[in-house]
Amino acid sequence: MIEELQTYNISVYLDAVMNHKSWGDYTEKFTVRQVNPANRNETTSEPFEIQGWTGYNFPGRNKKYSDFEWHWYHFSGTDYNDATKQSGIFQIQGENKNWSEGVDSENGNYDFLLGNDLDLNHPEVIAELNRWGIWVSKELNLDGMRLDAVKHMNDVFVKQFLAAIRTDKGAEFYAVGEYWSGDLDSLNKYLDTLEHSIDLFDVPLHYQLFAASQQGGEYDMQRLLDNTLIQTIPNCAVTFVDNHDSQKGSSLESLVQDWFKPHAYAIILLMERGYPCLFYGDYYGTNGEKSPHRLIIDILLEIRKKYAYGEQIDYFDHPTTVGFVRKGDKEHIGSGLCLLMSNDRDGEKIINIGIEHKGETWYEFTNNIKDKVIIDESGNGKFLVKGKNIAVWIKE
Ligand code: CA
Repeated sequence: MIEELQTYNISVYLDAVMNHKSWGDYTEKFTVRQVNPANRNETTSEPFEIQGWTGYNFPGRNKKYSDFEWHWYHFSGTDYNDATKQSGIFQIQGENKNWSEGVDSENGNYDFLLGNDLDLNHPEVIAELNRWGIWVSKELNLDGMRLDAVKHMNDVFVKQFLAAIRTDKGAEFYAVGEYWSGDLDSLNKYLDTLEHSIDLFDVPLHYQLFAASQQGGEYDMQRLLDNTLIQTIPNCAVTFVDNHDSQKGSSLESLVQDWFKPHAYAIILLMERGYPCLFYGDYYGTNGEKSPHRLIIDILLEIRKKYAYGEQIDYFDHPTTVGFVRKGDKEHIGSGLCLLMSNDRDGEKIINIGIEHKGETWYEFTNNIKDKVIIDESGNGKFLVKGKNIAVWIKE
């Protein structure tokens, strides 16, 4: 399947969860201290022995792909004591056993997320994960990886892990990290430590889109891209509207409201910067329900493919009507576009799209507006958008 996808120039990335393991094969006895979930640096018990599901010998694997067996000392924390059937955050005790450095500082130290938290400072763990990363990338001929939950993982580990794979697979091996934080400073700090060797999902942009969708006309659209990755470090930004974690009923629920989805997808799909990521649920639907957004996403994807080329000129200059121009390029005949978005009433903007366009007729591609625009002698056009809607103007 991977080979077939690559025949059509579709890159294949593996989703790698290396922060935690669950469902051990057997229990082991070891010493822990319980910690306060709101501040993991604060212990709330003396050391005591528990029975945790930390033993992994993979009987079904029978050492075929790896003979590595995991034990309690390969982990820094666990969440269940089978002896007493009690849940909690239990920090594993032992020589050199601490929560890791180089993780997010939320909850004191956010090394532990759930399950059995891998000790990414343990030499055997580092060696086994590096060996696995190189092996799986080669075995499946991967083009890259999505690294899950990197805010809970030692940043220095992640940096050397990617370096190890790239030594084998080449420098172009792609990586995007899921660092779920709306705080741009945290993302910047992380990217600095990794020397920009990884992209990150633009979570701050997601939260701007979410806020805009909730606040309607009260939201100042001029601020839509403020404090986002796309605005500050666009080369490392993977833009998205929603994902499996932000959807309804999920742990980080912050679903962009339906009326604003066209705006949100127009931004990420038509802008010059960023690596846009389309959410399966927005296209195919979730829970067996069809998505109402598929039609507009298809239209925007067609516009992206045919017209979204060339330099971008921003018009984030009005509280309720904003947009941008793509100037087009010579490789794509007739390319270029003018996007306008409103979060309140009908809007209009006089925009100069370049004197080389004088005399042209432009029309509105999403079919919301029937009127056409004639570009005048100086290259100006008066473009319209309907209230709470988007308009994408294209040369006829
Ligand atoms: Ca961790």
